Amino acid sequence: MTGLLVGSANARIGLRDGIAVLAGGGSALNAVVAVIRRVEANPDDHSVGFGGLPNLLGDVELDASIMDGRTLATGAVAGLRGYQDAIDLARVVMTELPHVLIVGEGAARLASESGFQLRDLLTPEARQIWASRIENAQPTDLYTAKTRELAARLTRDPERPHDAHGTVNVIARDGAGNIASGVSTSGWAWKFPGRAGDSPIIGAGNYADQRYGAATCTGRGEMAQRCCTAHSVVTFMRFGMPLDDALRLAAEDLHRLDDPYKSEVNIVAIDREGRHAGASTVPGKTYIVMTTEMDEPLELERRYIPPAPDRLANQ
Ligand code: ASP
Repeated sequence: MTGLLVGSANARIGLRDGIAVLAGGGSALNAVVAVIRRVEANPDDHSVGFGGLPNLLGDVELDASIMDGRTLATGAVAGLRGYQDAIDLARVVMTELPHVLIVGEGAARLASESGFQLRDLLTPEARQIWASRIENAQPTDLYTAKTRELAARLTRDPERPHDAHGTVNVIARDGAGNIASGVSTSGWAWKFPGRAGDSPIIGAGNYADQRYGAATCTGRGEMAQRCCTAHSVVTFMRFGMPLDDALRLAAEDLHRLDDPYKSEVNIVAIDREGRHAGASTVPGKTYIVMTTEMDEPLELERRYIPPAPDRLANQ
């Protein structure tokens, strides 16, 4: 079977690593890790791993998850500080611990015990972006108030100059037909310390069950958490919906949410046949695809899904 990688556009930098794994007969899980590892190491991507934008206090906190669509085995970390390889650590959780999700100090302890390299994840450039946004904060500001203010600014800022959202999504299908999915992020910039988004929450930002397909999300994690978006897409396919309809229904559910910080949610997904699609609650987004038969990746339009007509009628 042809090896396939589908991901968010920022996965491009790692696609060749993933294709090399698949072309060499490697597993979908290994391919997912190979792609995401490269993105996490990229200091120019301020939404993932090393160089990621920090939380309100200037600390970079990473979230990641991985899922094996063959067995539904999964592992995740949230609020990981000081180690860039969040996706590798999520895999350690999956394979070495009788747990699914490890957070904060526990995640750093696991990284240390597993021989991961300690590293200051805050690059001078990311620090500068953070400082420019935080400069008006008073030491007396309550974190809750400041988080709300910055989240509101991010939500309304049409240019989002430093793209304060962002996450890498990768779904792989290997030569044996097995599917795996992975997600890694530094989360919403300026988040409340300890906030975990959808990326490490299985069912919210990541889900794979190869009997039906797989789905992963980027964008406002709180919305995907509330709708269990990734799991919903896979479940809708389980109930017989074609991939495009499953994505439409999931996006319409997201539009229905009442949320003062409402923002975009983007989904990439594949069905059990390896048909792929990208969808978004906002127009103009793309996703990326590469197979073992292609020389170059293909960047494709995501389908924009507007609110459902009943929602429009109620506004
Ligand atoms: N989904 C990520 C989060 O909420 C961020 C993003 O993709 O923009 O942490």
